[in-house]
Amino acid sequence: METILVLAHTENDGSLAKTAREALHAAATLHKSLAGSKLVVGLVGDNVQAAANSIAACPATKYFGVTGAEFTQPRYGTDTAAAEAICKTAQATVVVAPATSRWARVLPGVAQRLGGRADTHVTGAAAADGKISVNRWYYRQRMESSQTRTQRPWILGIDPGSQSACDCGAGTASVEMVAVNLPDTAKRTTVVGVREPKADAQTIRPDAQLLFVTGAGWTKKQADGQTHVPEAEKLILGFLKASRASLGSSKSLVDLGGEGQAVLPFLSHLNQIGQTGATPRHAKGLSTCCHGEEPHTVGWRFINERRAISLDPNCGWARGKADVLYVADAFQVIAKVNELLA
Ligand SMILES: Cc1cc2nc3c(=O)[nH]c(=O)nc-3n(C[C@H](O)[C@H](O)[C@H](O)COP(=O)(O)OP(=O)(O)OC[C@H]3O[C@@H](n4cnc5c(N)ncnc54)[C@H](O)[C@@H]3O)c2cc1C
Repeated sequence: METILVLAHTENDGSLAKTAREALHAAATLHKSLAGSKLVVGLVGDNVQAAANSIAACPATKYFGVTGAEFTQPRYGTDTAAAEAICKTAQATVVVAPATSRWARVLPGVAQRLGGRADTHVTGAAAADGKISVNRWYYRQRMESSQTRTQRPWILGIDPGSQSACDCGAGTASVEMVAVNLPDTAKRTTVVGVREPKADAQTIRPDAQLLFVTGAGWTKKQADGQTHVPEAEKLILGFLKASRASLGSSKSLVDLGGEGQAVLPFLSHLNQIGQTGATPRHAKGLSTCCHGEEPHTVGWRFINERRAISLDPNCGWARGKADVLYVADAFQVIAKVNELLA
């Protein structure tokens, strides 16, 4: 009989992040498809009661917690010790954890300590005829595999955004505290702070409903024979500010910077979508000034509703890559849209 453990850490305010609820959804789905399995939850943080209560209506039958000031920091030494202790106490055979930056560093080490195995970038788990299989994408998200393992415990790092978040309600959970004997060596590292870009400088927003893609057309000569890069910058940033969309780009546009041409300073290769870029997940996508070539549009695999604005009626978007193509000048369209959004 498999014991499925959802392993999560709390946020600084004691809550559970959406990524933890996504892992819970994946674990609950697996539990439902696996007759006789047990679902339990393990939480790590300063105080985990509020987090446990917030998901008390989920099908888990037991809650385990490792708590204390030492476990608030995202520190490898204390996080691995906490995760190892919970896995052992829960006698977990399958561990489902959100692949946050904090947990992704820790999970393979925990598998090593427990003599198990860890798989990263898992996008789904289910059982058929009592056998568990997990899904994972390869080769720039172009091939999906379904794979099984016999080793236990089997630790699964669930890709954020690949699941819907479990919407189970709140209640009162009874949490069994797990003691961890921490050697001093586990506490050598101290996290002194978090450095992150200002909210409006952060253009990659995985949780956004909309992906807004900019192509090289924004920096090309326009009908008047001139380029209009400062205007493009203003329009794009104005749209992002009003819509809170995530910013993606074609390769041509992000490459221009390296070639010394006039570019949009807020774009980097991290924004690149496509075969040699990212494959983000958003409900909708809007492409602007981009031709929609195959190496770019393969990165749109997980975008459900696609629209594009291009001057070229024969561009790739018109050839089955978009649901709607507006054959129009993106400078004019986005200026009007920004006006409406304001
Ligand atoms: C091995 C390989 C890997 C690659 N990987 C990637 C990848 O990961 N991601 C990626 O994006 N590309 C990738 N490419 C490159 C890809 O093939 C294209 O060259 C690139 O996507 C083109 O970018 P673009 O559409 O922005 O530019 P362009 O092809 O220059 O298109 C610009 C478009 O803007 C339009 N336009 C201009 N002005 C306006 C306006 N005012 N209003 C509306 N439209 C306007 C034009 O009509 C044109 O269609 C790869 C190529 C190779 C060979």
